[in-house]
Amino acid sequence: MEHIKEIESDVLIIGGAIAGCSAAIKASQSGAKVTIAEKSALGRCGCAPWGLDHIWWYTPGSEMSLDDVIDAHMERLCKKLGNKGVLATMWRESFERAKDLEKLGVEFKFNGKYHWRTHHHLGVYNSLIYAGRNLTSALANEVLRCNVNVLNRSMITSLIVDGNAVIGAIGFNTRSGEFIVIKSKTTILASGGATRLYPSPTNRLFSTFAPPNDTGDGYSMAFRAGAQLINMEFPMAHPTTKGFRPSSTGGFKNAGAPVIDAYGNPLEAGIDRSETSRLHKKASEEGRYPFYVDPTGISEEKYAEICITSIKNEVPMYLDFLQYKGFDHRRDIVEIEDHEWDLRDGRSGLLIDEDGRTSLEGLFAAGDCTGGVFDAESMGAIVIAWRAGESAAGFARKKVMHTISVNIIEKEKKRIFGPIEQKEGVSWVEVNMGLQKIMREYVGEIRHQAGLERGLENILELKENFVTKLMAKDFHELMRCLEVQSLLDTGEMVIRAALARKESRFSHFRTDYSTTDDENWLKFVVLERQPNGDIKIFKKAP
Ligand SMILES: Cc1cc2nc3c(=O)[nH]c(=O)nc-3n(C[C@H](O)[C@H](O)[C@H](O)COP(=O)(O)OP(=O)(O)OC[C@H]3O[C@@H](n4cnc5c(N)ncnc54)[C@H](O)[C@@H]3O)c2cc1C
Repeated sequence: MEHIKEIESDVLIIGGAIAGCSAAIKASQSGAKVTIAEKSALGRCGCAPWGLDHIWWYTPGSEMSLDDVIDAHMERLCKKLGNKGVLATMWRESFERAKDLEKLGVEFKFNGKYHWRTHHHLGVYNSLIYAGRNLTSALANEVLRCNVNVLNRSMITSLIVDGNAVIGAIGFNTRSGEFIVIKSKTTILASGGATRLYPSPTNRLFSTFAPPNDTGDGYSMAFRAGAQLINMEFPMAHPTTKGFRPSSTGGFKNAGAPVIDAYGNPLEAGIDRSETSRLHKKASEEGRYPFYVDPTGISEEKYAEICITSIKNEVPMYLDFLQYKGFDHRRDIVEIEDHEWDLRDGRSGLLIDEDGRTSLEGLFAAGDCTGGVFDAESMGAIVIAWRAGESAAGFARKKVMHTISVNIIEKEKKRIFGPIEQKEGVSWVEVNMGLQKIMREYVGEIRHQAGLERGLENILELKENFVTKLMAKDFHELMRCLEVQSLLDTGEMVIRAALARKESRFSHFRTDYSTTDDENWLKFVVLERQPNGDIKIFKKAP
């Protein structure tokens, strides 16, 4: 059987992208002994390595007051359903954190100066355009300088709970199969959101907008441990250039380029982006497909700026794509399609406070695995992770290390390595595709009670009949089998939350409750698994 690696740490961080690294740096600077477990590899993992083109950054003394910016985010992006404490903290501390990042070598200036723009979804002048391509590597280099214990290719599969407290975690090395048991005084989840839950428009499992190995592992682990999760009913998508998965049309829309249908009629004017998929579906059924962004009217000056920021900095491979297709955006309109629905950006996930504290003792969370702020994005991840790192280190100073019972370790070991022991059974691909079909058919743009109930039955059936039959021929496939189990849990949470929310809001549209009901539903739907396995679902004021 696989070798066991045992580790003790004051602070364990699960996920080593920008939230994980930010938390590690601050926890280590606060005197804690820190371990990061990353399923992929530090410096190259997560959403940010291919480049970000903007970051929230409030400069003291700006034309618009800090309170007005916070209110604008709350009104326009969260539509009042937002965690105001987290949101305000993100904006308040954005300047300090951005300055820290600049010291680490992240390039915020180009052509020698800062460039600001109004963000197309927020409409306030506090989105800094920058070359965010080295953000992930700059943070990872600092983590290494801080002597953090880094476990690359290490997938964490379960949190260990004692009563209401998280006391460690268990996982395995996805290359060697080494079994990993980590005792920790505090744990910070920074494991990102969930993609591969809904089918990609290309029907390829790994052709996704966000990294395909962000598979809701954090949602699943936290849920199984009994933490509270919110906003799980709101997966959504943005339109991107057809055939080109990463973001690429935002810059054009930002500069005022209209979205039009096949007949040149304006399509998305005045529509919130959480509702665009439904609008596209409806227009498509009316025979108005395909849809386009028309950048041909953008001024030369704006176009040159987009080429530098949204294209050259963020997605340079888009230039190759344009060349291959023979497109010229000064002349040609761009066909668009919605990427697969996913959960991320700090919208859906663990309920946290301003320090990243969750409902479980000793468990903190930051970044895309947390819920409550629509479009918290990278600055939300960094600010809250920073605070979580400091708070977790402080918490660890007052705690003693717990022992993890042999029974728990043996039980999880059996669960993790089950698919490797299996001689015949089903592949993770079949289960993943089956789940995607259920999510598309029953929990898509148009929802209602009977459909959601049928979707839930289907997921529970998949769990019951196929999870124990999952088969892996190596440790890489074993990781995929465990990811699929996280996705099944995530899908179940999406449906349960959608069943609970008896109104329509954002991407959640129910034909049986087709209006937005602020009086009763300007509230988070909270999911909390009880120790006996029952799932408690309740409303909570934001
Ligand atoms: C295409 C795209 C463009 C974007 N553009 C911008 C932009 O311009 N500006 C902006 O501010 N934001 C942007 N964002 C959002 C921003 O990138 C994210 O909000 C941010 O990077 C999230 O960071 P994170 O560390 O929380 O999560 P992630 O980057 O998702 O990282 C999570 C990490 O956890 C690891 N992990 C997952 N499960 C496990 C496990 N079980 N065990 C161990 N490790 C695990 C993953 O491998 C991954 O490395 C964009 C996002 C995308 C997808």
